Amino acid sequence: MRRPVVACMLAGVMCAGCAGLFGRMDRVAATPSVVPAPARMDWRYGAFTITPDTALRYARDAAGAREAAEFLAAALRPVTGYALPVKAGRGWFASGASDVFFAAPAAVEAIPREGYTLRADHKGAVIAAADPAGYFYGVQTLRQLLPNAVFGGEAGTNGVWQIAGVEIEDAPRFQWRGVLLDECRHFFGKAYVFRLLDQMALHKLNTFHWHLTDDQGWRIAIEKYPRLMQVASKRPGSVTPGDRKSQDDKPYGPFSYTRQEIREIVAYAKARHIRVVPEIEMPGHARAALAAYPELSCRGEPLEPRVMWGVEEEVYCAGNDQTLLFLEGVLEEVCSLFDSPFIHLGGDECPKTRWKACPKCQARMKQYGLKDEHELQSWFVRHFDQYLAKKGRRLIGWDEILEGGLAPGAAVMSWRGMKGGQAAVAMGHDVVMTPMEHCYLDFRQFSGYDGYEYIGGLLPLKQVYAFDPCKGIPAYQEAHVLGGQANLWSEYIWGQKDAEWKLYPRLCALAEAVWSPAGRRDFTAFSSRMERHVDRLARLGINAAPLAPPYAAQWKAGEMSNDWSVKTWDIGNWLDKAGAYSVHFTYTHGRHRFDMRKLRILEDGAVVASDDKANLTGGINAVAKYVMRLPAPRDPNKKYLLQAEVRGDGGGDSNGRIDIEYQGK
Ligand SMILES: [Zn+2]
Repeated sequence: MRRPVVACMLAGVMCAGCAGLFGRMDRVAATPSVVPAPARMDWRYGAFTITPDTALRYARDAAGAREAAEFLAAALRPVTGYALPVKAGRGWFASGASDVFFAAPAAVEAIPREGYTLRADHKGAVIAAADPAGYFYGVQTLRQLLPNAVFGGEAGTNGVWQIAGVEIEDAPRFQWRGVLLDECRHFFGKAYVFRLLDQMALHKLNTFHWHLTDDQGWRIAIEKYPRLMQVASKRPGSVTPGDRKSQDDKPYGPFSYTRQEIREIVAYAKARHIRVVPEIEMPGHARAALAAYPELSCRGEPLEPRVMWGVEEEVYCAGNDQTLLFLEGVLEEVCSLFDSPFIHLGGDECPKTRWKACPKCQARMKQYGLKDEHELQSWFVRHFDQYLAKKGRRLIGWDEILEGGLAPGAAVMSWRGMKGGQAAVAMGHDVVMTPMEHCYLDFRQFSGYDGYEYIGGLLPLKQVYAFDPCKGIPAYQEAHVLGGQANLWSEYIWGQKDAEWKLYPRLCALAEAVWSPAGRRDFTAFSSRMERHVDRLARLGINAAPLAPPYAAQWKAGEMSNDWSVKTWDIGNWLDKAGAYSVHFTYTHGRHRFDMRKLRILEDGAVVASDDKANLTGGINAVAKYVMRLPAPRDPNKKYLLQAEVRGDGGGDSNGRIDIEYQGK
């Protein structure tokens, strides 16, 4: 008799304690889910509350502290309704209120570049940093410690803006934390770029790699060469969505950024501690420019910007001095618009067909004793490496610039796996790792169809998370690895909605790969933090893909009885090409088994695939899997239903999901 009583008492005591604890936790961001994970984070006693009386104070001698305080005030104002004052000087103890103080670091050398410390408890919050970016990142972390409502959407805080007591020491693992946006295949425009820069800042990403010129379009105004805006900024058509072998004959463009717009974007990025690295492709991926100035190609024949995707044979003539002068003129204006230490010159995918047949290119090779066209490309890249060096800038290019010898000061962006980057590091060059197998977010994220068109490949969230830019690099050479980058090539990305579906949640995984220390990386912990973080993305209006593969359809309790009945599900989004599709029924919960038989795919009511086999779910070892064959590609104008006879075994309380996956021809 004693034991139950003791147990009850204990339970009672514990419950009271828990209630108190959870009562407090309810009003704070329940589990702080900071993405990317801070280097070190410990709990402290107490909690910090932002009230209408909170002041944001800053140390006068701390560079960037006032700007960070103002950024925080501006971010809090619309959601809290508080107009928090930003004031110089300490006094946060004296005021008796809970203030945020942006302090000068006790010892500058103790906080690394872009790093910060953040301490919060009942007395207030203190952020210290050694540079302006550090204060800014401290603010980004503080926002993520607050209830998610700080990102907008439904309030859900009862007006209490509180964070649990915490002590954080944080700094990035890499100095280059990048995102590439391809504006050439599809153009996104200034409003989207601002939006992307805000999202990058939230994830502590600091390098915007802006792909501005390619075969299919030239997107940057160059005053000296007006035909780039008049001719190279548009193309006669584009690849048809859903049918990549055909073109739509709809004129695309003109689309390009004016000098004023570029200045605005660079300034907007700078305020968020993001550098903008422009990419001006050469000697390949140049057909749009050659459409405007055909005399710069080897054959000099008139041509139009390219419509289809893929690798283009028409490239700049490396033997023509006018080409060099043209590109120097372009780069001069580029350097006047962008203050980035790096200028990206592409250098990838340059077929040598035209150079082999061109007298000028062959003469250039003879003149400099170059043994083949790869050495000619190397000579070409070196020319611009020296040109940029004279302007105090550094060249960075895709790993093809390694072929035929690398210009001495050049940095390499490794995209064809990590090998190019590893080779460049071994030669003493700086590299940015952006291997396809971890960083190409235009690849599919789910093995099943998710309603979006992708370029191909498969790159699930977990594989992005597994990215380690220093993999295969000897420890003593790790300093040459500047960092890593996600690439968003836009052949199959038509606008913001597509872009965000493909970026998120995978960009969050990449942000953690380039920010958090290797020892803090843990996919399970990341996934758990992401459960809260996806809510932030939703509040920001971001069209993010789900963390787990979406399922095609589901069944729910009450939708079936103990007798066989016919049920249908709309699966139009899940069919695409002709071929085999697996249809997999998975029981998730409920008291009853779910049985099915006589499976059909109906196209506008007509049966196009069938399998009569009876299957069950929920039983021991039950695998309810069918393979259905779609005879012709999905017709977007028709309705597609999955039909089956179903029943609950003994009752209608069964729930589950149906996954549909393309299996091939
Ligand atoms: Zn030539």
